[in-house]
Order: sequence, then structure tokens, then C-alpha cells
Amino acid sequence: NAIAVAIDGPAAAGKSTVAKIVANELGYIYIDTGAMYRALTLKVLRKQIPLNEDKAITNLLANTDIQLKQSDSSQHVLMDEEDVTSAIRSEHVTNNVSYVAKHAIVREEMVNRQRELARKRGVVMDGRDIGTHVIPDAEVKIFLKATVEERARRRYEENVQKGFAADLEKLKEEIEQRDRIDSKREVAPLVQANDAIELDTTDLSINDVAAAILEKVNK
Ligand code: C5P
Repeated sequence: NAIAVAIDGPAAAGKSTVAKIVANELGYIYIDTGAMYRALTLKVLRKQIPLNEDKAITNLLANTDIQLKQSDSSQHVLMDEEDVTSAIRSEHVTNNVSYVAKHAIVREEMVNRQRELARKRGVVMDGRDIGTHVIPDAEVKIFLKATVEERARRRYEENVQKGFAADLEKLKEEIEQRDRIDSKREVAPLVQANDAIELDTTDLSINDVAAAILEKVNK
């Protein structure tokens, strides 16, 4: 019987990498809820809507189509049919997304969309509030954490590999800032669900983490 696997945790804890592997192993759909907030943020920035204008942002979202498309091994994010897969990973989007995501009325619409995607189960969904708000009845809930130093180091390696300029200290500060906004917002803040299994990935490989999650699923 297909279930829902909820994976939450702070920025750069390895959620999406691990969620993709787990979804692939189970033949489930992977739903990256962060990508949905990022796609909206990209549109907000392009339209130069002030980040505190929650009503304008919500209206924009109502008129924005966001699709997560799985093709072979990679996942593509489509915003109004435009492929924004790499555009939503820019530093500009990354450093502004938490200000868009903190508005209650924005989240309400996003969460509705996410619940609809998870309705039939057979999903691995990652984010910040999946186990606590989006799918509180998920059969398996995982909370991934790692030290901020390790998370910054991983982001740094990724950036170097992509040929981007990378500053370890700056990345660490950006991650801490995003975690702070995500944890302190009034609606559905980043917290561990009471019934989530906590995995500290600081000293674990990606495959170890995926194996640990699959073991919980198969129990
Ligand atoms: O997971 P990712 O780093 O791509 O998420 C980007 C941002 O989107 C987070 O920092 C957070 O502000 C927001 N987010 C959220 N709730 C989720 C997923 C992401 O608020 N379920």
C-alpha cells in the first residue's frame, strides 16, 4: 500500500537529494515543496512586488501555474510553462524566498496545492512543514539535521562543482539567516514534528541516510 513520506529539516540538510533517491527506490513521486515557493519568489522578484505585500503575492500565486515534472532521473520545475529549474536556485531567489514563504495567506494556497498532490499517497514530499502541517498523517516522518558548518560545506562543494563563485563564510551566514526566518515565522514554522524520526546527517553519506529512511518505510 502506497504511503506518504514527509521529510523536513533546515536548509541544505540534504533533504532533496535523499528524497529523490527514496522516491526512486519506492517508485513514488518526489514533491519538492521548496521549489514551489522558489518558483513563486522568482515571479515576485521579476514583477518587483514588494516582499511584504502578502495580498499582491497571493493574487499572483492564484494566477501562477507551478508544475513539478519528472523526466527520467531529473526533475523539472515549470512556472507558467517556462522551465525555471535552474533559475529558482539563484542566490537572489534563495536569499528572498523565506520572506515570500512567511505570509500566512501565501502558505494557505501553497499547502492546498501540496495536499492535493499528496492525496493519493505514493509520495515523498520534502520541505519545512510537511510532517507538522501539510501531511500531519504521513505514515513516515523524517527530520533531517546537520551542523550548519557541514551544511555550508556541502553547498560550497555544490557551487564549486557548478563553477559558481563560492564563499564558505557567506554561505553559512545565508543558511543561518534563512533558518532563522523559517523557524521564527508565525505560521507553520520549521519545527520537528513530535512523531518524526530525527536523523543527524553530519557524518552520514547520502546513501546511508536514504537506506535508513527506506528501512523505516519497509518496517
Ligand atoms: O527546500 P528549499 O531550501 O528549496 O526551500 C526554500 C525556502 O522555501 C525555505 O527556506 C522556506 O522559506 C520555504 N519553504 C517553506 N515551506 C516548505 C518548503 C520551503 O516555507 N514546505
